[in-house]
Amino acid sequence: MNYHNITKDDMLNGDGIRVVLWVAGCGHHCPGCQNPETWDPNGGIPFDDAAMAEIMEELSKDYVTGLTLSGGDPLYPGNRETVRNILQAVKKRFPKKNVWVYTGYTWDQLMQIVGSNRDFPWDIPDILSYTDVLVDGRYEQDKRDVSLPWRGSSNQRLIDVSGLLEKERRSEIK
Ligand code: SF4
Repeated sequence: MNYHNITKDDMLNGDGIRVVLWVAGCGHHCPGCQNPETWDPNGGIPFDDAAMAEIMEELSKDYVTGLTLSGGDPLYPGNRETVRNILQAVKKRFPKKNVWVYTGYTWDQLMQIVGSNRDFPWDIPDILSYTDVLVDGRYEQDKRDVSLPWRGSSNQRLIDVSGLLEKERRSEIK
């Protein structure tokens, strides 16, 4: 996976003060996207051990609330394995720091991909299990709303993933 940037002390992409990893690669190509330079999965630079150490160093600071993954799309098929590994390592070392993931997929689309076993689905459940909040859906220009915190258009939702997964587990048990 390639990435473009790691930003620090960010207060715009999730709750609190955050470190944000801006990944390369997105297949959604939403009209009006603010970061079209991130669509190319070969753009930016390879995510390596130094980048991982940079994120961990930020997360070790008491005042940093958590990690946000944005881009690009962290759930772009070619990114999923690396993203899974990043989140696994972060949650292992910092279980109390929260993780926000921005994606152009809707929750329902992700569930369909997992259910249909197509499009490299195998890392999605793991990624979701490490995610506290998923900001889902494409940016839709006609639904642009600058008054909404942490998202650009009103179709995008802030999903409490751990709560949702728990509910689904409970409904499976019933
Ligand atoms: S999903 Fe996000 S990064 Fe991808 S095109 Fe849409 S707005 Fe841009």
